Amino acid sequence: MSTLEINDLHVSVETEDGPKEILKGVTLSIKDGETHAIMGPNGSGKSTLAYSIAGHPKYTVTSGTVHLDGEDVLEMSVDERARAGLFLAMQYPVEVPGVSVSNFLRTAKTAIDGEAPKLRTWVKDVNATLEKLDLDASFGTRSVNEGFSGGEKKRHEIAQLELLNPKVAVLDETDSGLDIDALKVVSEGVNRFSEAKDKGVLLITHYTRILRYIKPDFVHVFVAGKVAESGGPELADELEANGYDKYVKAAV
Ligand code: ADP
Ligand code: MG
Ligand code: MG
Repeated sequence: MSTLEINDLHVSVETEDGPKEILKGVTLSIKDGETHAIMGPNGSGKSTLAYSIAGHPKYTVTSGTVHLDGEDVLEMSVDERARAGLFLAMQYPVEVPGVSVSNFLRTAKTAIDGEAPKLRTWVKDVNATLEKLDLDASFGTRSVNEGFSGGEKKRHEIAQLELLNPKVAVLDETDSGLDIDALKVVSEGVNRFSEAKDKGVLLITHYTRILRYIKPDFVHVFVAGKVAESGGPELADELEANGYDKYVKAAV
C-alpha cells in the first residue's frame, strides 16, 4: 500500500516585492488505486503544488508536510523523491538537446532502480510502450522534447510514467495542447498505470475534457491556493456546467 499525504501545505515564491504565499494550506491524501483530479482556474496554484511536491528550488515550503508512505518527502532531494516513487509530469516539459529519448529513459530507469535494466527486456519494454502510445520506434533516437509537438511531449511523459513505474504520479495539465486522438492515447496510458497497476494519480487540470477518458475517484476544486471543495466525479460535471465562478467569488 502506498499513500501520498499532503497536510496543510503552505508554499511561497520569491518575487521582487518579497516572498508571496501561493499555497495557503493544501491538505490531500492519495492512496493506491485512487485517481484524484485537481481542477481550478489559471493562477490558482495548481502547478505550484506539483512543483512543490517535486522539490523545485524556486518554491519554499513555509509550513505543512508531505509524506510518501510515512517518509518525509520535503527532506528529500529531487532525485531521492524520484527514487522514493514520486513521478511528476510537467505542464511545460523541458528540452534536453543532444540526449536521445532512449538514453534518457534508460538513464532515468537506472537512477531510479539503482541498477541498469537488462538490455534485452528493456528494449522490448521501451518498444512496446512507444507502440502503445502510437509513437514510432524511431522516436527513441530523437532529442528529448526538441521539436516535439505538444502531443509528442505528453506521450513521452506517459512513456516515462509507464517505464519508470513510480508509486504515485502527479500529472500537471497532461491534457493541454492535445487533439482528441492524442488525448485518448495519453489517457489510456494513464489508465493502464492507475487501473491495471493500481497506482495513485494526482491529475491536475483546468478543463473537464480529460475526465471523459480518465475517471477520477475524487475531484477537488482548487482556488486561491487551496482546496475549496472536494467530492466525487459528479463535482466535475457541476464544474463543466457552471465553471469556477461560484468558488472564486467565495474565495475572495
Ligand atoms: P496554475 O498552475 O493554477 O495556473 P501557478 O501555480 O502556475 O497556477 O501560479 C499560481 C500563482 O503564483 C500565479 O499568480 C502566478 O503568477 C504565481 N507564481 C507562480 N510561480 C511564480 C514565480 N516563480 N514568481 C512569481 N509568481 C509566481
Ligand atoms: Mg482507480
Ligand atoms: Mg499550471
